[in-house]
Amino acid sequence: MSGNEIVTDVVVIGAGPVGLFAVFELGLLDLKCHVIDILDRPGGQCAELYPEKPIYDIPGFPVITGQGLTDNLMAQIAPFAPQFHFGRMVTRLEKRGDGSFRLTTDADEVFLAKVVVVAAGGGSFQPKRPPVDGIEAYEGTSVFYSVRRMDDFRDQDVVIVGGGDSALDWTLNLQPIARSLTLVHRRDVFRAAPDSVNKMKALVAEGKISLVIGQIGSLKGADGQLAAIEFTTDAGVMTVPATRLLPFFGLTMKLGPVADWGLELNDNLIAVDTEKFQSSVPGIFAIGDINSYPGKLKLILSGFHEAALMAQAAKKIVSPDEKVIFQYTTSSTKLQQKLGVA
Ligand SMILES: Cc1cc2nc3c(=O)[nH]c(=O)nc-3n(C[C@H](O)[C@H](O)[C@H](O)COP(=O)(O)OP(=O)(O)OC[C@H]3O[C@@H](n4cnc5c(N)ncnc54)[C@H](O)[C@@H]3O)c2cc1C
Repeated sequence: MSGNEIVTDVVVIGAGPVGLFAVFELGLLDLKCHVIDILDRPGGQCAELYPEKPIYDIPGFPVITGQGLTDNLMAQIAPFAPQFHFGRMVTRLEKRGDGSFRLTTDADEVFLAKVVVVAAGGGSFQPKRPPVDGIEAYEGTSVFYSVRRMDDFRDQDVVIVGGGDSALDWTLNLQPIARSLTLVHRRDVFRAAPDSVNKMKALVAEGKISLVIGQIGSLKGADGQLAAIEFTTDAGVMTVPATRLLPFFGLTMKLGPVADWGLELNDNLIAVDTEKFQSSVPGIFAIGDINSYPGKLKLILSGFHEAALMAQAAKKIVSPDEKVIFQYTTSSTKLQQKLGVA
């Protein structure tokens, strides 16, 4: 085992509502999870596509927003202290000789797990590339679509483009360490949380960041090193110093690397049984929107049910000699102790 390998019972791929609830069901059975997601926050589609929309068909909640459900799930799984790895895509998944699995992320981390739960939803969210000539040449050196390490932005001239939560959150987080920070948005109306917008406007008023209302034009630099960016604004062309560019132009969903893991697929979804929600490879389960079986409904509540059954099967793989006794959270002191309420 090399130093940078993370060894765990279960790796959950995807921190959407179903991946989060899987942590709860696995936690009740004492299985420890690491959760990996491409996005920089939990919640999957609920948090990324409709955080403020009301959902009306979550059992027990007559109405709850996408973000509200995510926040509740995070509170519900907190007793199990899952370890999250955000801003990473699982690119490779291989079965090892001993039956366990080796997962590799696009940040070159390696996870070793006895069980893998693919809760990858509609597939991987991938950033939309802004329509700017030659931007590819700067990607990975000066242009980034997410923040992996804040230090990469320290003492840099940072330009952030966008008006949503990611753009505003990173404006507030990077301002203290950047040499200069410019936020650029095409109009003076922001989709981000009002509190973040107010904080951003206060920083502009204090002269700590610049706000430009305009559209990205061309990139100036050489050898992958960005130096400045031209923007078109109502007042004409404006040049802003820039050694780092973070465009937040939204996300598209693609199946992504899931297709390359040798799992039986059905219309680009992972074929599973309905007893355990196991894929064609024993030990790899698929739950939530990513799976396919007769009668499947792409609903959050279906994913929750699948998570409960999957966890029972996962337990038998991780602890084959342990007899699992079915228990209710209402009446089992053992389960309540795990939840920190008894
Ligand atoms: C506008 C809208 C309204 C909806 N309303 C309802 C509703 O009212 N009721 C309802 O039940 N359902 C609703 N849905 C559907 C619901 O959101 C989905 O069923 C649910 O999000 C599926 O959850 P999930 O955890 O399976 O996947 P997702 O929420 O899609 O999360 C999957 C996560 O996996 C991550 N991921 C994928 N591939 C990788 C990889 N290779 N490496 C790392 N991470 C990866 C993704 O980044 C993502 O965060 C709605 C959907 C939309 C778009």
